Amino acid sequence: MAARTHTGMRGLAAVPSYVVMQPTTLCNLDCVYCYLPLRAVDKRMPVAVAEAVAAAVNPWAAAGRFSVVWHGGEPLAAGQEHLAALLAPFGPEVEHHVQTNATLIDDAWCAFFAEHGIRVSVSVDGPRDRNGERVTRGGRPAYDRILAGVAALRRHGLPFSALAVVSRPEAGLATELYDYFLDLGCDVLGINIEETEGVNTRTNARDAAAVTGFWAELVGAWRRDPRIHLREVEWSLRYAGAVLAGTADDVLPRRLDPIPTVAQDGSVVVLSPELAGFTDPRYGDFSSGNVLTTPLAEILAGAGRTPWVGEFLAGVEACRSSCPYFGFCGGGHAANRYFELGRFDGTETEHCRNSKIRLLEGVLEHARDHESPAV
Ligand code: SF4
Repeated sequence: MAARTHTGMRGLAAVPSYVVMQPTTLCNLDCVYCYLPLRAVDKRMPVAVAEAVAAAVNPWAAAGRFSVVWHGGEPLAAGQEHLAALLAPFGPEVEHHVQTNATLIDDAWCAFFAEHGIRVSVSVDGPRDRNGERVTRGGRPAYDRILAGVAALRRHGLPFSALAVVSRPEAGLATELYDYFLDLGCDVLGINIEETEGVNTRTNARDAAAVTGFWAELVGAWRRDPRIHLREVEWSLRYAGAVLAGTADDVLPRRLDPIPTVAQDGSVVVLSPELAGFTDPRYGDFSSGNVLTTPLAEILAGAGRTPWVGEFLAGVEACRSSCPYFGFCGGGHAANRYFELGRFDGTETEHCRNSKIRLLEGVLEHARDHESPAV
């Protein structure tokens, strides 16, 4: 697992595997840990932005699997009519996803998802008493509205993923959450330990043993009933298996996926959607161009020359040469470095400790404790 053996993640790939689109800055909720700076403002993406993105994306999708992820704000707050107009320029090969708080989902939205072949991912943090930080603009719990949206998805037989934020890892929580999501009916689950990002300045420094124990417990819960694809755990097991097979260097992509986020105004921020909407005296607005004036492929071809991106790539090299977890992690996320360290060429962050290092250690702890061939 020595860092120097890992040769992936050198520079940016010319073609991403997906694009994140922001149909509106607005969100109808006001979650306590939210990082979005403009979530109270309704700035909608002009159709011309979607047309410009589709001009690049349609040939990529014709050549191989390609997704557009509609993110926000709350993407459904853009309304069906406007979202349909933004979807129209994309060809039939493009896979569409929405990341939604689910509170606006009703029968009409379910029909819309089915008609447009949109895959839904719901943000929900667990049962009612674990979900207290997802609140409306008036500060009221959003839980019942989230569940009503999920019930509509189930009524219509639409499969969905779930994404949960964990703010306080503690013994028993992983099992409780996993059982909850089994009942909820999602087929994929992602778990994010809360991050210090954007306008969320709460610390994400956590007790190491509690976080490692959380991940270890989650592996145990999943192995007892692995009906849900558990994003972080399956990825960890794949990496651990590759280490044992001597193929760990094949796990990371050869180049970093640029993951362009196209903000509502057409500006493009690569690598970290969380940087969109922010400015910094040193780095400007973090964007690498605007699709209304420059084709997306051209923006991505030059993105490595965006000053902060060059600094981040130097940080990835610093991780490669110093961190034993590099082959699993690939150098972490740009936004976590920026919001925690104030720059992009540092290495360890609280985020990578919580979500990469302790994740892998938790998986190994589970394997050790159970003396089984889990990995
Ligand atoms: S981001 Fe953190 S875990 Fe990932 S390679 Fe860098 S130091 Fe290691």
